[in-house]
Amino acid sequence: MRLLVTGGAGFIGSNLVHSLLPKTEVEKLVVLDSLTYAGHQLSLEGAEEFSKYSFAKVDLRERESVSKLINTEEITHVIHLAAESHVDRSISDPGSFIETNVLGTFNLLEACRVFWKENYSKCRFVHVSTDEVFGSLGKTGVFSESSPYQPNSPYSASKAGADHLVRAYNHTYDFPSIITNCSNNFGPFQFPEKLIPKTIHFAESGKSIPVYGNGSNIRDWLFVKDHIGALWLALVKGKTGESYNIGGDNEWTNLRVVETICDLVDRDLNRSAGKSRNLITFTKDRLGHDFRYGIDADKINYYLGWKPEHEFEAALENTV
Ligand code: NAD
Repeated sequence: MRLLVTGGAGFIGSNLVHSLLPKTEVEKLVVLDSLTYAGHQLSLEGAEEFSKYSFAKVDLRERESVSKLINTEEITHVIHLAAESHVDRSISDPGSFIETNVLGTFNLLEACRVFWKENYSKCRFVHVSTDEVFGSLGKTGVFSESSPYQPNSPYSASKAGADHLVRAYNHTYDFPSIITNCSNNFGPFQFPEKLIPKTIHFAESGKSIPVYGNGSNIRDWLFVKDHIGALWLALVKGKTGESYNIGGDNEWTNLRVVETICDLVDRDLNRSAGKSRNLITFTKDRLGHDFRYGIDADKINYYLGWKPEHEFEAALENTV
């Protein structure tokens, strides 16, 4: 396959590139990334040792540049990760989320549809989305693939818009697309605006650690390498037109995650127990903050044989 990874300089993208480059099925791997504040070529260090690797600084919002890249690199497979990804930024600046996540996805779909038109059977497009499109859960229940879309933030609404376009392309044109909806990821190369890396950095440097509300919001955490395993299976074994939920069956309150990181940092730095926990500061809750996400990942387990392999606390310790 001649694979395009969009957003390959971001958190999940860079982990994905490192893991897919050695695969013999991948004849060529091109990263498309515009290198926003969230994209770092340092995260891709070592990739250039593979002659099959190349990097294209292209903005998804520029349709002609996207089409040109797909054509000149003769792309057959796409894993589409590039996005504006931080909920807080979507609350203060929703416009860039619509431009990149909705219009950017449209540009990419159009470029592939036109270039692949004679060759759908040899091509695949995996659109990487989030469980946040399903909205918020109460104390019980989990999201399945048939849960209604009820996005609550400009971020999740823009991802939902992109999901709808991908679905419509499959339905209308028989476009060979697959959608994945994953829960919260953590691991190496994550930008330190997100809960886990931010807490690690703040605890290490002795800064006050902000926690929204009373810290009782619940997320289903998955180690990034487990997500990547699922994306690869979706690419090579997934059924086009289908969507697959991906999750860790691993729900934690934000406060419990933060306290666990505090204890790991104190232990690593030989500090007295409880020192970093004293840095925790409860702040005004995020606007429209979703209370709980939880994923039913039975479908991808049953049809593609995927299940998470990394134990949460061990992976968190490694990340710290
Ligand atoms: P990230 O913010 O770390 O990386 C996004 C990458 O996209 C960056 O390298 C950035 O430079 C690039 N990018 C942004 N706008 C672009 C544009 N207009 N043109 C080209 N490149 C652009 O994000 P992430 O956490 O790695 O998430 C990747 C994807 O996975 C996103 O689509 C996100 O919605 C989805 N996702 C993330 C999580 C998570 O917990 N991180 C969970 C489920 C789904």
